[in-house]
Amino acid sequence: MVETLKIDIERSNRSRLPQTDFTNLPFGKVYSDHMLLADYRDGEWKNFRIVPYGYMPMSPASPALHYGQSIFEGMKAYHSSSGEALVFRPSDNLRRLNISAERMCMPALPEDLFMESLSAIIDTDREWIPTAEGSSLYIRPFMFSADEYIGIRPSQDFTFMIILCPVGAYYSTPVKVKIETHYTRAVQGGTGYAKAGGNYGGAIYPAKVAQDQGYHQLIWTDGKEHRYIEESGTMNVMFVIEDTLVTPALSDSILNGITRDSVLKIARSWGMKVEERKISVTELVDALAAGKVKEAFGAGTAATIAHIELIGHEGIDYKLPAVEERVFANKVYRELEAIKRGTKPDPFGWIVKM
Ligand SMILES: *Cc1c(COP(=O)(O)O)cnc(C)c1O
Repeated sequence: MVETLKIDIERSNRSRLPQTDFTNLPFGKVYSDHMLLADYRDGEWKNFRIVPYGYMPMSPASPALHYGQSIFEGMKAYHSSSGEALVFRPSDNLRRLNISAERMCMPALPEDLFMESLSAIIDTDREWIPTAEGSSLYIRPFMFSADEYIGIRPSQDFTFMIILCPVGAYYSTPVKVKIETHYTRAVQGGTGYAKAGGNYGGAIYPAKVAQDQGYHQLIWTDGKEHRYIEESGTMNVMFVIEDTLVTPALSDSILNGITRDSVLKIARSWGMKVEERKISVTELVDALAAGKVKEAFGAGTAATIAHIELIGHEGIDYKLPAVEERVFANKVYRELEAIKRGTKPDPFGWIVKM
């Protein structure tokens, strides 16, 4: 255990803030002035430092490049009316990072080191937290192997980093999704529950095929029989069937989303009927055909709630009720946004001020 973490800060001598257009912030294209790095060497996290954001040297023999030895997280901070950064559930992101790390033979990052790192980089680039309504700071912590060795084995050296992207209001136009019954994202015993780089690289092609067919995203089904609904690209998926909120139960092929958990907790606190269980494709398609699916949405950090307007399955498209009629999804979206932005009380203790 480290007593107090010393983080060296090398400030950029020319901020990019003046030339950044905060009225036009496409997701993931604008980065703040600094980034945080730490090294894992000789079995210890050390050398925590903040440096100007930019390219970094890396061995061409890094297992991160060859074998996907990399994991990541995604979370958000919001600008409060009193100027603080309100970070949403960061310890849950760390817990999940460490779950991913274990699956990928990477070292855990202790909570105090993570929180101090996060707080330091947010403090350094505080002016990058957008203030406009609907905007936020997307935080991307990640870890990768820093070995110089192209043999396949558990690595010894690692790098941990945090980069920050200011993001504009997310105009959640409803999405058209296709139930994928051929390609597979994750299988039982695989790495689907980890936010591990390779899971996403392999998902791009099936998603592109769906996009060429006129859909925005996929709903993955189980890798064994394609009989059960799993989740969407980077979102968990939820349905209101008659008066019950239904979502696939977690498994090792589903990512345990923090937005998913937040939606479920709020729904239960409202006395809503909630079911976490297997949902077969047949059940869903039958319920869609019978008009019993009142709402369908994805839940994830980027959009919070992404309404699904249409679900395609084997050539047939099922349209869902108009977004304005979706009582639960609209209400839970407003509730979560208000808690995240500090305009409503935080009964679950989710906000960390930095
Ligand atoms: C990150 C992610 C989610 C959503 O998780 P949140 O913690 O809510 O952002 C869902 N599914 C996959 C596959 C993901 O990578």
